[in-house]
Amino acid sequence: MILFKQISRLQQALSAARNENKSIGFVPTMGALHEGHLSLIAQSKQENDITVCSIFVNPTQFNDPKDFEKYPVTTAQDILLAEKAGLDLLFMPGVDEMYPNGQQLTRPYELGRIETLLEGAHRPGHFQGVCQVVHHLLSIVQPDGLYMGQKDYQQCMVINRLLDITALKEKIQLKVGATLRETDGLAMSSRNMRLSPQARKQATAIYKTLTEIPEHIKTKSISDAEQEAASFLLQNGFDKVDYIAVADAVTLEPVSKPVPGQPLVVLAAAFIDNVRLIDNLLFDFYL
Ligand code: AMP
Repeated sequence: MILFKQISRLQQALSAARNENKSIGFVPTMGALHEGHLSLIAQSKQENDITVCSIFVNPTQFNDPKDFEKYPVTTAQDILLAEKAGLDLLFMPGVDEMYPNGQQLTRPYELGRIETLLEGAHRPGHFQGVCQVVHHLLSIVQPDGLYMGQKDYQQCMVINRLLDITALKEKIQLKVGATLRETDGLAMSSRNMRLSPQARKQATAIYKTLTEIPEHIKTKSISDAEQEAASFLLQNGFDKVDYIAVADAVTLEPVSKPVPGQPLVVLAAAFIDNVRLIDNLLFDFYL
């Protein structure tokens, strides 16, 4: 594995690979690597000649500066894990390397409705920051495949839109990997390491309540099921629920009366121990 901190050095290595007609897979991350990240690296390795992973905690996507300050950084361990996973190129730029002209967005990305829903509504500016950094990283790496996790369902939809509006879709294939979970169901997340032992145990309630929703909406209204799920989280150690929402899996629009066979996704965002956790499950609606 080769570690790069400079864009120019990484690009030299990548253009050499491209000249040999090697395909390039890319896994962007914010580090504090776990099995979820490593599964994306594994998928990319299977499907490409060269795999690049970036680790960059992007300041422009944090709408809450405290969240940015507290974001876990485990650089030495990340390097070991990436090496062990058989990664080819690890890119760990500093903020000045990524944003030499400052962090402000020069023009907003036209993301449409998707930016106004769920995460977009609760984290103003978040997806603009995500697009800013992913667009920049894609222009640096110019991969054939971009590997992202279903764990961040709406983010995948936003990046799909980014590829559309930047005309990158012809060149880059977005591949969405399944959500990896701990044995008790909690979705793996870098933020989990900030949970106290008690909150870590309670956090599994988020997965439990999501798995019950497909059954619940067979016998009660979606809004009742959503409200009961939110109450369940509040009774089980969560301090605040941003949303638990059943949405159309393709458009992410809220659904009140699903039709049989309709692909749905139930998504949740809630705080426990001052840590904001998100998760989601895809399912088809059947009575
Ligand atoms: P992050 O470092 O949290 O920004 O995540 C980097 C990439 O890993 C994103 O595409 C995430 O969706 C993905 N990811 C995060 N957690 C998981 C997980 N538990 N399973 C699979 N992919 C994940």
